[in-house]
Amino acid sequence: MQERSEGVVLRAVDYSETSRIVTFLTPGRGQVACMVKGARRPGSHTGAALDSFNRVEIVYYWKESRSVQTLTEASLLDGFGAIKADFDKGLYGSFILELAYKLSGEGIAAEEIYAALVSNFEDLTRWTGEPRLHAAWQTLRLLEAGGLAPAVASCVECGAYVPEGGCKFSMKGGVVCADCSAPHRLRPETRQALAVFSDARRACPTETAPSALFTLLSRFAAEQTGAAFRSLQVIEQITRP
Ligand SMILES: [Zn+2]
Repeated sequence: MQERSEGVVLRAVDYSETSRIVTFLTPGRGQVACMVKGARRPGSHTGAALDSFNRVEIVYYWKESRSVQTLTEASLLDGFGAIKADFDKGLYGSFILELAYKLSGEGIAAEEIYAALVSNFEDLTRWTGEPRLHAAWQTLRLLEAGGLAPAVASCVECGAYVPEGGCKFSMKGGVVCADCSAPHRLRPETRQALAVFSDARRACPTETAPSALFTLLSRFAAEQTGAAFRSLQVIEQITRP
């Protein structure tokens, strides 16, 4: 059965001298892996449209029994050139792609994750501030779309309201009150930024926030998805003081 869908290229691996296997995130089917014959031939039109980050329209033959489908057409809708042209935006963007990959699955509809990913990248294209802060905001939006957003107001252990200011934090679910125990401490400014960034659903807030916000949220994402992020290792190596 031939299907047409919009998708974002999450990853692509070389398969043979001339072919690649490209994994798309689609709204209707979640991850769809496609064999793209001829993608590695010089001048391949389809191959050029299938860079990571690209939002594309694809046509493929769908067969339930196959784990890799056959791509027949791909046309570029948005290449997010402003992200690829900026080293830091691209670096943190790879983490976001990896997170979208871990939060989605094959054959499981991913409308919310897809919508969050596309609007994240559109906002990042226009962003002129710290890419690390923007990545913190994007991480929150994707976690929320995947049903894994951290609690920011009520203690995850006892449900009590956690007053403003510093508090504790559990990688299992979010903020923790003074009476319950949790391994991490959140400084008042990180807690404040977490609340502001959680509430900002349309666009990343332009106010400044501690760099620790991304550290916290990326670790939280790793814990929640049970995954090790390759891009995060690179980010941590590069940003280590
Ligand atoms: Zn509590």
